[in-house]
Amino acid sequence: MLQANVKRPGDLQIEQVPEPRPGPGEVLVSVASCGICGTDRSIFTGGYPVAFPIVLGHEFAGTVVAVGERVEQLGVGDRVAVDPNVTCDTCAFCRRGLVHLCARLSPLGVVRPGGFAEFAVVPERNAYRLPEQLSFERGALIEPLACCVRGIQLAGIEVGDTVAVLGAGPIGCMLLQLVRLEGAGRLIVSEPNPSRRELALRLGADVAVDAGDAARAEVLEVTEGIGADVVIEASGRARTAAFALELVRRGGTVAWFGSCPESDRVEISPFWVNDNEITIRGSFNNPFTHAQALRLAATGRVKLDELVTDSVPLSKLEAALDLANFPNAGKIAVIPGERA
Ligand SMILES: [Zn+2]
Ligand SMILES: [Zn+2]
Repeated sequence: MLQANVKRPGDLQIEQVPEPRPGPGEVLVSVASCGICGTDRSIFTGGYPVAFPIVLGHEFAGTVVAVGERVEQLGVGDRVAVDPNVTCDTCAFCRRGLVHLCARLSPLGVVRPGGFAEFAVVPERNAYRLPEQLSFERGALIEPLACCVRGIQLAGIEVGDTVAVLGAGPIGCMLLQLVRLEGAGRLIVSEPNPSRRELALRLGADVAVDAGDAARAEVLEVTEGIGADVVIEASGRARTAAFALELVRRGGTVAWFGSCPESDRVEISPFWVNDNEITIRGSFNNPFTHAQALRLAATGRVKLDELVTDSVPLSKLEAALDLANFPNAGKIAVIPGERA
């Protein structure tokens, strides 16, 4: 089979390797679609530390083509969406139900081989049957949606709240729909790209404004100068994470959701946090939220159709990892079975 192997940061090779075999409790998935995530870009450029070489790709869906021993629920031919987070179940975090904080977390596409390959080995418990009405392309969006569900749970939005979402890329567009479902009274999206602003409006934003001063002016205007109840950072930029702190009201919550490079820093005054009783939440993962994400997608309550803007074969993965080559891209889907 073909796989895209990142040997070290910036060095990606498409190679022909033997098809892997599923071990006990594992299934072999023929990868139909695997989304490119900001995390893949960070790993590829060296901004997110992992052990190389690594086959990236943790957002994927496909068909089960072989099963290992002791696989009980799934069979050959089943369509599945994959939860990439393989947990140890015995560390102190797992034993407290905090599986997303597992001390020995070994996610597919980050530690174990992922979905930028024609086939991937997946523990049966990490594969979720894909409802009939969901295409593989949308199935590959279930993982990021499950992360967004977790992020929204932590943001603690209350009915009627004024919420600002900073960034309307694929993640921002999922988050803003969940903010709507949570019952926000006013939803402001800030985003520099005009076509993304249009999309945010179609998906339920009350108003979509340019980033920076325009966003600040809009938030202050609709909140009588006090700031938003909840501000969600969805762009993965330290500058935007810092800007979120400027938009939140006293007693409000800032949720840092976008994945910034590990070395990025935000300067913050502890006094200001105390004095204003600010809550800052971080979230990165999707513990026990795949089933909810599947339901939200299958029922159309969260619309995913417009989020995938491009699809590329494995041979174009390296080009697609550089957003400069796809300046207007939303989610880019890699189709490993497709030939260039
Ligand atoms: Zn991701
Ligand atoms: Zn663990």
